[in-house]
Amino acid sequence: MGSPEPEYDRQVLEGAGSILSLIARGNGSSRAELLLESGLSRATVTHRLNALIACGLVRETEQTLPSGGRPTRILALNAAGGFLLVANVGETHIHLAAMDLSPAILAQTTLSFSVMSGPEDTLARISDAAAALAAQVQKTHGFLIGIGISLPTPVDFKRGCVVGPSVLSGWDEFDVIGFMQARFAVPVYVENDVNLMTVCEHKRRFPAVEDMLFVKVGTGIGSGMIAGGRVFRGAQGAAGDIGHIQFLSDDAPLCRCGKFGCVEARAAGWAIARDLSQRGFHAETARDVIDLVEQHKPEALMLLRASGRTIGEVISDVVSIINPSLIVIGGTLARGGDILLSGIRELVYQRCLPLATRDLSIVLTTVHDDSALFGAAYLLLDDVFGPAKIDQLLERYCASAVALRQAAQQLAES
Ligand SMILES: [Zn+2]
Repeated sequence: MGSPEPEYDRQVLEGAGSILSLIARGNGSSRAELLLESGLSRATVTHRLNALIACGLVRETEQTLPSGGRPTRILALNAAGGFLLVANVGETHIHLAAMDLSPAILAQTTLSFSVMSGPEDTLARISDAAAALAAQVQKTHGFLIGIGISLPTPVDFKRGCVVGPSVLSGWDEFDVIGFMQARFAVPVYVENDVNLMTVCEHKRRFPAVEDMLFVKVGTGIGSGMIAGGRVFRGAQGAAGDIGHIQFLSDDAPLCRCGKFGCVEARAAGWAIARDLSQRGFHAETARDVIDLVEQHKPEALMLLRASGRTIGEVISDVVSIINPSLIVIGGTLARGGDILLSGIRELVYQRCLPLATRDLSIVLTTVHDDSALFGAAYLLLDDVFGPAKIDQLLERYCASAVALRQAAQQLAES
């Protein structure tokens, strides 16, 4: 005997959005918590919850909460209730994945990429590869929830386009969301990679922290901010671009942005590599710098320490403005550990007021290759399952399930 036909009718799910949103965001892990958080009657919560379980979006897990009395079953999104397509555009390749609602990778692929490729060609290749991934997982995960794209450049998040000077040639002002939605009629999110690494770090390691600064120190320098538990982007999505804050002095070095004295030109991986090359070492990237640090070359150690102090100088200004409780340092140069961190700490504690640093932690992290990819998944899930969008999601879910069922029926009848 097969499993009973899932119930997808929109009527049955009427009003279930708020319950689904609470569960998806971790604020409704048990029936008791749902009652408390939703303010609805027990009968209504039970009715709507049963509808969500029947249609396959929510499941009751076998784990139990230590709730004091009887064990309580834990409610969670059904990881297999749908899938996401996410892409991380790097400077030399594009990493694409189909993920379930955990999020966990179901299928993935990598495309070669050049920053000289224009947006149309690149997004067409991403679309083709994404469609192929979707075809692999559709049978088991059915419904495409949305698409998330990470770009290595400033992005206007609201408009979904690249803004300002960028490493991506010809992408300025291109409507990425419009292009992708013409092919996939689902919500599409486009965001800067450092903001997405910030989201990933926040979600995975520090979900309880409300105000956090993440600084990526690699070949370049960038940062992302969480303020009040949410990404702080600024008016054009350019917030956190600390790499090009200038410190003027007589010997201000030329930056790759064309200005003099930027933080990057003094402290980024490429600037340390430049200084090491002038001293006769072979170094081009942040990785080369760290290799020399790991070989205990005194010049490399000295330059990385100085880099930490320069970064500490700019971070101390940011601390005075946004007053975070946590600063997370990641990127290739973070592999230098205390050599980099001690300089940052020294300057932050020296320059900030005691009130701002009393409860401030500064820690190192290992940024994984897929941090931005997972950040895109977390950002997407948070938004589509948020209270403002949840009804649209249920609407699409039911329509797609009904369409799938009709198609299957037609196939069976023919
Ligand atoms: Zn610059």
